[in-house]
Amino acid sequence: MKQSLQVVVIGGGQSGLAAAYHLRRLGVDFVILDAQSTPGGAWQRTWDSLHLFSPAAFSSLPGWLMPAQEGEEYPDAAHVVSYLRDYEKRYDLPIQRPVRVTGVHRDGEVLRVETDSGTWHARAVISATGTWWRPFLPAVTGRRDFGGEQLHTVGYRRPQDFAGRRVIVVGGGNSGAQIAADLAYDTELTWVTQRPPRFLADDIDGRALFDAATARRRALDAGGTDTGGVASLGDIVAVPPVRAARDHGLLKATPMFTRLIPGGAEWADGTRAEADAIIWCTGFRPALSHLSPLGLRGPRGHIATTGTRAVDEPRLHLLGYGDWTGPASATLIGVGRPAREAARQIADQLR
Ligand code: FAD
Repeated sequence: MKQSLQVVVIGGGQSGLAAAYHLRRLGVDFVILDAQSTPGGAWQRTWDSLHLFSPAAFSSLPGWLMPAQEGEEYPDAAHVVSYLRDYEKRYDLPIQRPVRVTGVHRDGEVLRVETDSGTWHARAVISATGTWWRPFLPAVTGRRDFGGEQLHTVGYRRPQDFAGRRVIVVGGGNSGAQIAADLAYDTELTWVTQRPPRFLADDIDGRALFDAATARRRALDAGGTDTGGVASLGDIVAVPPVRAARDHGLLKATPMFTRLIPGGAEWADGTRAEADAIIWCTGFRPALSHLSPLGLRGPRGHIATTGTRAVDEPRLHLLGYGDWTGPASATLIGVGRPAREAARQIADQLR
């Protein structure tokens, strides 16, 4: 099967949908190819107790506010999945599932998009594949010697799976804090962080993170000094379960161990902790392997961009991977603006 379109959007999570909304408004002919068989992107895969760090109205895609979830100021992941599913229906977005893009290639005037279900030709491509699909694990001495269960954030579901066990949670970001809080009551928990955890003030939520990211980008664009953006506020949003575990004295962090040993971990001073399981909440990298044929990747695996547009391949836009592809672009509310910019630039290019 071979098809020609003006634009192919790769990825049908929130970023792909935001791009689609703006492409549709501009009258551009496009398709979204998504590797999942159901709507919702990464939100379908998160742990059961995950709640957003902003209220519904501040977690909305362009055009349609996320409805509030009854009884929850901060909606849960299942609510986000239904919102994204309804959003696709509401705007009748052309999504093909499951279709995995295996490679994007230059092919004369067009880009050739190879997939496990055929080939598409497009005059522009928006890559919106997220990061969830590329979990990052740090190099740690002795990891193979440990012998117990090891999983990344992406593999964690619920505390019952670890009840009564000795668990080490590694990571001082939001995932680490939330999973540690989830496990704090029914497991023998050791929470390990590289530096002392930095909680945001209890009255600060994702709205402030979004404002900080936007202010930073504006300052940098205007040639001003770096305001530090989100990092200047702290690392961990004190969502209610994190706050509760912290206030009960159950979220005490320990510095990072130096190596893993059979059945546990060891610190520089010789202290040891036994463990049945280790959960690595150590972050993600952008899922960009389908762009390898274009030969664009620079240091740290990023592709050089101006806004969302790839510097060395102007027919390619990258959306939703983090601040480097637009301030707060890896959030529901933050992706709207860079999506609009990408769609506008593409519409101009097609004219
Ligand atoms: P994804 O949701 O990952 O969607 C990408 C889609 O592309 C997926 O369906 C995937 O299967 C598909 N895909 C990947 N590779 C290919 C391929 N080669 N071919 C075809 N399809 C492909 N943001 C907020 O706004 N508020 C929050 O409270 C919040 N909390 C978060 C908590 C956690 C633990 C995490 C990890 C993130 C959180 N975020 C939050 C950030 C953000 O909203 C998510 O990371 C979001 O899922 C990113 O959306 P996306 O569309 O860019 O990527």
